[in-house]
Amino acid sequence: MRNYVLPDNAYVSRLSPAIRYRLILESECAAAPLRRYAASTVEKFTQEIYWRRYWKNWLSLRPQVWTAYLDKLAFIRNEIQYETCRNRAAACEAGEGSIAIMNHFARELVQTGYLHNHARMWFAGWWIHIERLPWQLGADFFFRHLLDGDPASNTLSWRWVAGLQTPGKTYLPRRSNLEKYLPAEVLQKYDKGLCLLENPHPLILPAENVAVITRLSLPLAPPVSEFKLGIWIHEEDLFIEESPLAALKPCAILASGDAATWTRFRYPNTKTDWLRSALTDTAKRAGSAFGIEAQFHIESNLINVLLKWAADHHLQQIAAMRPEIGPLHDQIENLQIMLKKSGIDLVLLDRAEDLAQRPLATGGFFGYWEKVQKTLTS
Ligand SMILES: Cc1cc2nc3c(=O)[nH]c(=O)nc-3n(C[C@H](O)[C@H](O)[C@H](O)COP(=O)(O)OP(=O)(O)OC[C@H]3O[C@@H](n4cnc5c(N)ncnc54)[C@H](O)[C@@H]3O)c2cc1C
Repeated sequence: MRNYVLPDNAYVSRLSPAIRYRLILESECAAAPLRRYAASTVEKFTQEIYWRRYWKNWLSLRPQVWTAYLDKLAFIRNEIQYETCRNRAAACEAGEGSIAIMNHFARELVQTGYLHNHARMWFAGWWIHIERLPWQLGADFFFRHLLDGDPASNTLSWRWVAGLQTPGKTYLPRRSNLEKYLPAEVLQKYDKGLCLLENPHPLILPAENVAVITRLSLPLAPPVSEFKLGIWIHEEDLFIEESPLAALKPCAILASGDAATWTRFRYPNTKTDWLRSALTDTAKRAGSAFGIEAQFHIESNLINVLLKWAADHHLQQIAAMRPEIGPLHDQIENLQIMLKKSGIDLVLLDRAEDLAQRPLATGGFFGYWEKVQKTLTS
């Protein structure tokens, strides 16, 4: 029933924001149903969970795909030739596009921060192949409003719908498919423009070079000194009790929100409130796990926050979880350089299961899934 888009979304878990920010880990989500069901019974659900990790790992091996997306987005935002596109995209975001059901999804996304997977597919397919708008603007709209907005799952899913991720394969929304998976009364209410989905033609984007794998191995983290060590908790990983950080003995803990990213990507209040409360919760948990009160900051200048905190506690090293490819990761090199200038090492750690799975996303999902299963514990 997972593909049915019902008003109460009864057949999906809605766990994605918690998994995206690592309040819970994929391994926990995979393990929980196995207490009640055979692995074969819940395999589809387990696979969905690992789709997310697959996308993350795929992107971490090809970070240039993320950078190219951001560059093109900036270009579209600034160039005069895209002005009409930008205006039409803004109308679609406001629920004033050509198809009433898509307008309904746009409003649902803005109001709730969530859309069912099938609705995401239909909406992205409509945006790209019917409205013929740049996929980057649609991906930005989703990334801004989705509580689970994820640099990998979002960017690569939009590329998949556009036919760039699996070359030659586009995703087209079809009226018959909406009629099958949406309740009749919903479609009756939002039937304007449905005829546009009767015989849709794909937009064929110019083929891209296959994204080359640029980074198969990560530099080994230097040993962590326990003398004057601080732990930095950031929003990309909120389960530090279940991470290599848990074994350390810090003299200070900082939990910080990356407010520069929130502003840059224009996160709405619903999303920043959610992040704020997830970070507050994490800071509290960290306080009790390490027996030290965690400082909590949400400021746009991350480097100033880190430098001041490090100076206040005379830190020599800061340990943090390695952020995956995305806006925070983009700032890491600069943060490391700036901290080093003040004599402070920023050491990034990885979970063993992430390290084991990261190099496996060289090809398609199902080959990855075969290999991942061998890395999972019972
Ligand atoms: C255009 C488009 C954009 C998307 N953007 C995002 C995004 O920014 N962030 C995001 O987390 N997911 C994204 N997805 C994937 C998927 O739609 C969501 O993960 C899912 O709808 C989340 O709802 P749920 O937790 O109820 O999922 P469930 O169906 O209950 O699935 C359980 C978990 O599996 C994972 N999952 C399920 N489907 C997918 C998928 N197709 N790809 C990756 N992981 C999946 C999620 O972690 C999810 O929480 C996108 C899909 C499309 C088509």
